[in-house]
Amino acid sequence: MAASTGTVNVTASPPKHPTRTLAADAAGIAEAARTLAAGGLVAFPTETVYGLGAIASDARAVARLYAAKERPSFNPLIAHLAGIAAAKRVGILDPVAKRLAEKFWPGPLTLVVRAAPDCPVCDLARAGLDTVAVRVPAHPVALALIAAVGEPVVAPSANRSGRISPTTAGHVLADLRDRIDLVLDGGPTPVGLESTILDCTGDLPRLLRPGSLARETIEKMLAATIAVAGGAQIEAVASVAPGQLASHYATRARLRLDVTDVRPGEALLAFGPKRPRHAERAVKLLDLSPQGDLIEAAANLFAHLRTLDASGAATIAVAPIPAKELGEAIRDRLTRAAAARE
Ligand code: AMP
Ligand code: MG
Repeated sequence: MAASTGTVNVTASPPKHPTRTLAADAAGIAEAARTLAAGGLVAFPTETVYGLGAIASDARAVARLYAAKERPSFNPLIAHLAGIAAAKRVGILDPVAKRLAEKFWPGPLTLVVRAAPDCPVCDLARAGLDTVAVRVPAHPVALALIAAVGEPVVAPSANRSGRISPTTAGHVLADLRDRIDLVLDGGPTPVGLESTILDCTGDLPRLLRPGSLARETIEKMLAATIAVAGGAQIEAVASVAPGQLASHYATRARLRLDVTDVRPGEALLAFGPKRPRHAERAVKLLDLSPQGDLIEAAANLFAHLRTLDASGAATIAVAPIPAKELGEAIRDRLTRAAAARE
């Protein structure tokens, strides 16, 4: 374990002033960088979802971030960096981690590695662990902002803890209005699903969280299978990767997964051209991807869940989604959302 995180008060109230929204142009990015440097909280688009940024070395700002999200402080954050060189100052990339970084960064792959001796990411952001999660995002706004700041930026999803991740600036404001300083509006995020997290601290990488880089793609590159931490292991993983709590991604409505028929009063989240029986009963129907494309489905997942949740239906019926490629991460998020209500 790294040094104690005990001195920072993470239950301090989040800021109670109006959140500003700025276009993600050069002026907006410059203002966002100044806000971060002054200890502020800035939501910004990445290719996956909107992140809530704070300077990773600034324990006070990180404490405000936990407070704004109402996030349990034992839940470590991902440090976002402008490139591999910057990542090497934060964590120790072993040969496998280096290969993965060179192949998939910038991109939706987070690597958990041993922290570097002078790791600038504060203990609070690492939840006191001697490891650190690092990623280089593939979004021009995120990269420009991190470069302008010149330091690692922690950026968990910009939603209140346990809720659905935001893929638009409007989603961010719905959850965090007047709790954060600034939102950089760069339009909808292109991928729409969080990064894949690999634990690279052992002999072989382990999948801590399925995400928008498909496990099959990583396995092909490594010419090896990756152990999936899940099932009976999930409790153990919850202490290693605490974001994997079952209560994540909660909707107000119940979720019923892999449905073959729609019951009266349910909303329907469909996938592909094939409809469950009695689809006409659905009080509202949205299709993740009419052609059955898993990438398109990932991009639409969180926004569609929000819309169906807002329909007022007590239950959202979810059509079967294949458990391959990005379907693995989509099913993971849906299972967590369903579990949150059981
Ligand atoms: P989020 O920022 O909401 O996408 O969640 C980040 C997740 O990354 C956390 O909840 C953890 O599951 C994982 N994570 C971050 N740092 C570490 C670490 N040092 N060891 C293991 N998992 C980590
Ligand atoms: Mg999150």
